[in-house]
Amino acid sequence: MINKPIQYKFKFSVTICLLIASSIVQAQQIFSNNKYPITDFRQPLDITPPALAGSFGEIRGNHFHSGIDFRTNQREGYPVYAVADGYISRLRVQNSGFGQALYINHPNGFTTVYGHLQRFAPKIATIVKNLEYEKKSFEIDEFPDATLIPVHKGEIIAWSGNRGSSGGPHLHFEIRDTKTEETINPQFFGIIIPDNIPPVIHGLYVYRLNGKTFNENTPKQAIGISGANGSYKTAAPINLAGEVGFGIVGTDRHNCLSGTNGVYSIQLEVDGKKVYTSALERFAFENSKAINSHIDYPTYLNTKRSIQKSFVEPGNPLKIYSGLVNSGKINFSDGASHQLRYIITDSKGNTSILPFTVNAGVATITAPVVPTGIVFPYNKANEFNTEDIKVLFPLGTLYSVLNFTYKKLPKPAGNAWSAIHQIHNRYTPLHIGFEISIKADNLPENLRSKALIVNANGSSQGGYYDNGFVKATPRNFGSFYIAVDTIAPRISAINIAEGKNMAGLSKMIFKISDNLSGIKSFNGYMDGKWILMEFDAKTATLWHSFDERTASGKHSFELVVTDMKENTRRYPIHFSK
Ligand SMILES: [Zn+2]
Repeated sequence: MINKPIQYKFKFSVTICLLIASSIVQAQQIFSNNKYPITDFRQPLDITPPALAGSFGEIRGNHFHSGIDFRTNQREGYPVYAVADGYISRLRVQNSGFGQALYINHPNGFTTVYGHLQRFAPKIATIVKNLEYEKKSFEIDEFPDATLIPVHKGEIIAWSGNRGSSGGPHLHFEIRDTKTEETINPQFFGIIIPDNIPPVIHGLYVYRLNGKTFNENTPKQAIGISGANGSYKTAAPINLAGEVGFGIVGTDRHNCLSGTNGVYSIQLEVDGKKVYTSALERFAFENSKAINSHIDYPTYLNTKRSIQKSFVEPGNPLKIYSGLVNSGKINFSDGASHQLRYIITDSKGNTSILPFTVNAGVATITAPVVPTGIVFPYNKANEFNTEDIKVLFPLGTLYSVLNFTYKKLPKPAGNAWSAIHQIHNRYTPLHIGFEISIKADNLPENLRSKALIVNANGSSQGGYYDNGFVKATPRNFGSFYIAVDTIAPRISAINIAEGKNMAGLSKMIFKISDNLSGIKSFNGYMDGKWILMEFDAKTATLWHSFDERTASGKHSFELVVTDMKENTRRYPIHFSK
C-alpha cells in the first residue's frame, strides 16, 4: 500500500537495461531464515523485462512497503494474471488504500495480493457489483470460500490500474504467509527482477548516545564518504569517545526502468565481528509503523532523509534484526584503532561495502543525566492527568523510555472550545495511538455531538463528547484542542446540471469534500433507488457509471453526503438519458 503519492518514482529513468541472460550475475546468498518455493509462481504481468517502481520493505511514510510495485509503462490496462492455481480468498474495494484489490489463496500455503486494479475480470466484476448493491456500499471487504471463484495459473483476473492511494499507474503485488498474514519479500519466490547493480550508499552518520535514549536532542554528525559501484570509503579516520551508534543512508536500483528503491540488508561489523544486521525478508503489518523507530525519525521529519539507524530501541517490535551486540551500540574507550565495515545488499545479493577506521578516545566523558520531564518507561502503560486533561499511553505505545513533557497554552481564537494542550513533541514516534480526554470550556449542549479534537494544524483527530470531556485517540504527539464541525460536506457537479440530457455520457461525475471531520458516507438514489457511486479519495472524485439499471427517459437523482459529525448535504437533480 502506498500512503503518500509516489509520482517521482514513475518518471522515466535512464538506467540502461541489461537484460541478457548471460549478463545476470549469479547473486550471492542473501540472508533468509526460511526456504520458499521458487518454481510455483509465475510473474503477475506479461511486461518484459519486469521493472520495479518500488521494492519490498522500502521506507515509506510511517510504514515499510509491503510488496513490490511493478512498472506498467505509465499506462493502465495491462492484464494481471493469477500467479498460480488457487481461489479468490478476498475481494476488496476501498476509497483509498489499494482501491480495488484481489487476494488469492494458493495450496502451497501462501496468499498473493494484487492492488490498485483498474477493473476486475468479468466474472469477478459481476460478483463484486452484486455484493455492492446487496450491501448498498461502494467499499466492500469480502472473504469468499474456496468454491466461489477458483482460478488457474495464468488466468486473467484483472487489469492493472491506478486506483486508491496510488501515485501513478502500477501493479502492487504481495506474497503473504496465508496463516500468519506476514508479508514476505516476493524476490524469494523466483519472481526474477533483473538486477546486477549494487546499492548506493549516500551517507554515514554517528550519534553520540553516552547512555542516553536516542531522541531529537542526540548529537548527530555526518561523516563525509565517497565511492561508487559497490565500494565506498570515508575521507579520514573518525575520532570517537564514549558510547555511539551509527546510521546509514542507502538506496538501490535494478536494471531496466528501475525507480530508486530500498536496500535489502544492512550489516555493521567492528573488528570483523558483526554487531548489527537488519534484513527485510518478511514482517507483520502490526509492526510496520515501527519504521519510525528503525530510522532517525526527527531527521526524517525535518529533512525527509531516511537514515537507517544501526542501533535498536528496546521497544522496537520488528523482527528484522539479528546478531545484535549491545543493541548495535558501540563503546569506544580503549584508545585503540578499530576497523568498522558496513555491508549493504539488495534482494539479489549485490553488495556495497563501506570500511572505515575509528580512533577511540581513552576516557568516556558522560554528562550527568538530568531528566527534563516525567519518566515514562517503554515497557509499561503510562498516564498523565490534570483537572482538565487525561492522557493514557497503553503498553506498546513507546519504543524507548521517555522524559514526558506537557504544557497548557491559552484557548486559540475561532473554532476552539478548550485550551491548547501540548503533549510532548512530534519528534518522538509512537507505535500505537494514545487516549486523550480534554475538558470542554463552555461548550453549548447543542454542539456536544459536533465536538472533536484537532491538532495544531487544525486536522481532525476524531473523538466524541463524554461527561464534560472530549475523547480521541491521536496517533502522534503534538498540540491538541477541542473544535466543532457543524458544516456539511461540499458537493460540486462536474458533468451534470438540472434538466441536462446525459445521452452519450457514460458517467455522471461529482467532487465531494468536507471541511473538518471527514466524509463518513455517500449515497446516490436514482428514482428513489440506491445506485452504486464509486469514489477515489486521492482526487475526491465520485461517479456513477450508467448501466442497464438506467433506462432511457427522464430520471430524478439525489446524492446524499454525510460527514463524521452527521452533517448532511443533499444534492437533488433531474436529468434525461
Ligand atoms: Zn505498492
